[in-house]
Amino acid sequence: MPIQNVPTIIAVANQKGGVGKTTTAVNLSCALALLGKAVLIIDSDPQGNASSGVGIRPGKTERHLYQTLCGETPADEVIRDTEVTNLSIIPATIDLVAAELELINENLRERFLKNTIQSLTGSFDFIFIDCPPSLGLLTVNALTAAHAVLIPMQCEYFAMEGLAQLINTIRSVKKSYNPDLFIAGLLLTMFDTRNKLSHQVSSEISHHFGDQVFNTIIPRNVRLSECPSHGQTIMQYDQKSTGAAAYTALANEFLHRQR
Ligand code: ADP
Ligand code: MG
Repeated sequence: MPIQNVPTIIAVANQKGGVGKTTTAVNLSCALALLGKAVLIIDSDPQGNASSGVGIRPGKTERHLYQTLCGETPADEVIRDTEVTNLSIIPATIDLVAAELELINENLRERFLKNTIQSLTGSFDFIFIDCPPSLGLLTVNALTAAHAVLIPMQCEYFAMEGLAQLINTIRSVKKSYNPDLFIAGLLLTMFDTRNKLSHQVSSEISHHFGDQVFNTIIPRNVRLSECPSHGQTIMQYDQKSTGAAAYTALANEFLHRQR
């Protein structure tokens, strides 16, 4: 038997929509894969944006996360390769909405994703879970399964609003289900260097959270917003863009912080 890597599992979470969760899950995963790490993305958002972002648009009959959460299909069988070497994904479809409703009455309903991950036999260095924009059962499952949470935050006026609620949820998951859960870092996204507000928001967040904030800041970059519609990560779509450079820098900082 080959020696298996024990994967580091990261939930990318923030109950606000449009803050850069999916963009970060996809492009940080891809940057790590290009650095030679074996990475699995688990798309845990019924909208399936991470899946389409890596070029997979699963139809109803194809393999996806819901089938394994509900016990229909072994977890290994719902993994799909992507065009990027070392990067795989468990895709999501709108069926996941049903999972949230069906699991609510189950015993140990917060542990379904953890069980799924534990049953994987493949060897991964990192697993990134792209969470939906809510603090519902899918996000609680992700926080229960993960070692750490990465919190993307958009540099806008209401960035801090809702953060207390997210931190409370993390705290209660930690207390009830996952005592070792920690914050991998807060990531400032969609930063606009010409906008005074971006600078104000970023210094306010740094003031509150100190070195929990990644030094790498993701700039607003139109190439980052274009690549999902081509089913490509930023490294595939435009390797020379500031977005690609930022996510590569983030991957290096992320690896450095792991040590
Ligand atoms: P979430 O998953 O938190 O809802 P997304 O990652 O889908 O957020 O980002 C929301 C929108 O903003 C998407 O259209 C995405 O392409 C775009 N976007 C994300 N990050 C950036 C960025 N740094 N620069 C420009 N557009 C971005
Ligand atoms: Mg998303």
